Amino acid sequence: MAKYDIAVIEGDGIGPEITQSTLSVLRTVCSSDCLNFLTVEGGASHFQKSGEVLPQETFEVCQQSHAILHGAAGLPGVTYPDGTEVGNDLHLKLRFQLDLFANVRPIKLYPGVHSPLNTDDTVAIDYVIIRENTEGLYASRGGGIVLREEVATDTLVVTRKGIERVARFAFDLATKRNGALRDGKRRVTVCDKANILRSYAFFRAVCDEVAKDYSGIEIDYAYADAITVHMIKRPDFYDVIVAENMFGDIISDLGAATVGGMGISPSAELGDFHGLFQGAHGSAPDIAGQNVASPIATILSAALMLRWMGDRHMDNTLNDAARRIEAAVEQVLAKGEIIPRDLGGNATCSEITGAICSAVG
Ligand code: ATP
Repeated sequence: MAKYDIAVIEGDGIGPEITQSTLSVLRTVCSSDCLNFLTVEGGASHFQKSGEVLPQETFEVCQQSHAILHGAAGLPGVTYPDGTEVGNDLHLKLRFQLDLFANVRPIKLYPGVHSPLNTDDTVAIDYVIIRENTEGLYASRGGGIVLREEVATDTLVVTRKGIERVARFAFDLATKRNGALRDGKRRVTVCDKANILRSYAFFRAVCDEVAKDYSGIEIDYAYADAITVHMIKRPDFYDVIVAENMFGDIISDLGAATVGGMGISPSAELGDFHGLFQGAHGSAPDIAGQNVASPIATILSAALMLRWMGDRHMDNTLNDAARRIEAAVEQVLAKGEIIPRDLGGNATCSEITGAICSAVG
């Protein structure tokens, strides 16, 4: 009997190939009685067939599983009447219905990967952005007003509960990490615009309150505009950054660009009871089905999944499997023989998968 059920939604575009690649890695690293993969439908192409992006059966499997692994969803031109993309709705529905309030975006530069910041190979980058995932400006999605085609509004909403829990998540994470690369200090940087808007001043004030419970961790502040400069000029200063939803969305993609791009950047969306894991990139329909997509972001997301389940269920075999996957990715990238297309090489999805499976095996 497998101990853990994993709901698997392959999705659209490159979703199926990168998901299959990731399942191969998981099957190599975990014993056959450990993980039970439950593949379920969902995404833009499923919407075209059935009118549903997230069927009820898929939702129930996701809700009842120990974790959710997702490839990517979305197809060009598959939109709702208001112009918004259908594909995005898959993980947005899961995010809100399962209350996945913390979006974890590790920003780590692997040896062998070129960073646009690394002109002389001395830049080291290893920090984590925690994006508040359920409120902020995006809480208004679908709820804004367009009046007489003259005036449009969306409202930024933050709550004490929402800020407290994401701030606590960030501080707890900083407790487990080894501090910033620059000085070894455990540090949580609050990214906001407290100088301009009351909502952001409140965000900062609640983070300050939470910080009082974590005496060993430095609290630091950065305005959202200024942090875009600091992330480029002194990335090694950062350890954990916590940000309101929209700011977190923007700076986490900027961070990804500094370590090789979206094809290598994993993501986890976590709540108190559920976790959804997928690469930071979209469904890249332009390269779908050609065996050229990089599965690395999804494979690293699967490592986040194993670590999250390992911590939750106090199962060290899962933490160990997560470490082995990350070490295998690191080894393959450092060797430099198998280089994904988006990192400047020409390795196929199958070649990358094979190399990572050999390295963990
Ligand atoms: P979304 O809006 O759904 O997040 P997007 O429009 O920002 O997606 P992506 O689908 O993430 O765009 O991809 C942008 C481009 O980057 C793709 O067209 C593709 O060429 C490249 N790309 C994205 N992901 C990968 C990957 N895993 N491997 C290789 N190339 C990729």
